[in-house]
Amino acid sequence: MPLNRLSEWVAIQRNPSSGSGAGREELVRLVLRLQNFGYQVRSFKDRDKLLQALNNPEKRSRLKCLVAAGGDGTVNDVLNRYPSVPISLFPMGTENLLAKYLQITDSGERLAEIIHEGRTEKFDLCQVNGRKFLLMASFGIDAEVVHRTSQARKGNISKLNYVQPFWDSVRNYEYPEIRIFVDDAVEPVVGRFGIISNIPAYALQLPFATAASPFDGRLDLRLFEKGSLWSTMEYLYYVTNRWHEDRDDVTCLSGSRFRLESDVPVPIQVDGDPAGFTPALIELSSSDVSLLVPKYFLSDQSERIPR
Ligand SMILES: [Mg+2]
Repeated sequence: MPLNRLSEWVAIQRNPSSGSGAGREELVRLVLRLQNFGYQVRSFKDRDKLLQALNNPEKRSRLKCLVAAGGDGTVNDVLNRYPSVPISLFPMGTENLLAKYLQITDSGERLAEIIHEGRTEKFDLCQVNGRKFLLMASFGIDAEVVHRTSQARKGNISKLNYVQPFWDSVRNYEYPEIRIFVDDAVEPVVGRFGIISNIPAYALQLPFATAASPFDGRLDLRLFEKGSLWSTMEYLYYVTNRWHEDRDDVTCLSGSRFRLESDVPVPIQVDGDPAGFTPALIELSSSDVSLLVPKYFLSDQSERIPR
C-alpha cells in the first residue's frame, strides 16, 4: 500500500439497499484509485459507525470528504447529519438527479479524480420543518404517490414499484386546496399541487422551474390551481413542453420562505422521499453545503445551454 502521504482520508457512506453488481464494482474502483492517490478510505454501511468516526476531532480534521454512495435520498441523509462536511456523490440509486446535474457519472475512477482535484462549490440548502434537502419539495398528488410507494416499499426500489401506488393515488386523491404565504405576504397564493425548486429545469425529469438556480439565494415556486385527474394530465403535458409558466392558472413566484396551510393534511415529498404533511414551512436554510464538483461543472447559469 502506498505511503499515506496526504494523511487525509475519505469516508464512504453506503446505502446498503442501493446499487447493482456493476455499481459495486465501480465502488471498488473508486476505493482503489483513492488509495493510489494516497488517501485512506473507509466504507461504512453502518450509520452509527460513521458517526463514531466523525465524532473523533482528530479524524474529523483529516477528512477530505464524505462520499454519499446511493441515490438522492442517501445524499439528503448525509447532508442532514453532516451539513458542514464537504460531500461527494457516487450515484447508485434509482434516481440520481443531483449527480446528473453535477455531471458526475457512475465511474469510480473518475470520481476519485474529482475528489483528488478537490473543487468544491457552495450550494443553497433548503429545509422543510427543519429537515434539510437540496433539490425540490412538492405537495399534492405526486407527494401522495411518493408516500404510498414508501409505505409499500420493501428493499431496493425500482420504477415498477410506483405503478400500484400511482393508481391508488389517482383513484383516491381529493386534491385539497393549499394556501401558501410567500416571505412576508399577508395574502396567500392558492392551488392544489405545487413544487418548490432549488435546481434548474434541465436537472429535473420534468422541467418545472426553468430558471431555478442553487446559487441565487432564492427558491422557485410553481403552483397549479386546478385539482382533478384531467387537469393534472393537462398540466403535465404543458410542463413536459415547458409551456406551463405562461398559463393563467399557474402561479410562478420566487422567495426564500414558504408557509403552507390547508384544511386537511396534504402530503409533502422532498427529493423523492416522504416529508410529512401540511402545515409546513419550506425555506432556505441559513447554512449552505459544499459539494465536490468536476472541474468542468459550470455554476454560472448564463454559461449553460439548456437542453
Ligand atoms: Mg435558487
